Amino acid sequence: MESRAGSLSLRGGVLALDFANTAGARDTTAPIEHLLAATDVVAWGTHAGSLDTEGAKRASAAIGTDREAARRVLRHAVQLRDAIYAAGAAIAHGNPPPAVDLKTLKDVAQRAMGTAELVPRAAGGYGLDFSQAPIEAALLGPIAWSAIELLATTPFERIKQCPAHDCGWLFLDTSKNNTRRWCDMATCGNRSKATRFRDRH
Ligand SMILES: [Zn+2]
Repeated sequence: MESRAGSLSLRGGVLALDFANTAGARDTTAPIEHLLAATDVVAWGTHAGSLDTEGAKRASAAIGTDREAARRVLRHAVQLRDAIYAAGAAIAHGNPPPAVDLKTLKDVAQRAMGTAELVPRAAGGYGLDFSQAPIEAALLGPIAWSAIELLATTPFERIKQCPAHDCGWLFLDTSKNNTRRWCDMATCGNRSKATRFRDRH
């Protein structure tokens, strides 16, 4: 399978959930995985905006010359991604996030935060800047931090999972009445309508 990490739709509404959506159709016989190599993590970060051009260049150079570092980045990226997914999916179904996933999240954030700077943000207030951090922290720090902000500040009923069987993406429902059901009405919503129509006729 070919990775589309650098062009995936960003429907999660926040960085952490978009990152969780680098895999899909998890409960099917044909699960989808877009993080196949460390270069996919870099491609996704550039695409999603968590990594600037300079950071992407630095990361590409580092993982291109150090295979052990590349393997480690990929392993930790997938661990972080799966922890965000497990926590988000649990919350979306009204359950508490599993302790083991919260610990993974905290561990990644803790490692990365030691190398981050606290700087003013364009949107106001201050935020953590990982752009000068070592490669793994530069790649995963913004995502872990986004997940922690989500857990700390978002009403849990706003965190949802697309019910389409071959999707299962997580997203933040920002609709006025909290009524969004699908990650994307145009694709998952319509496909489901078409399936129901076919099943009835
Ligand atoms: Zn969907």
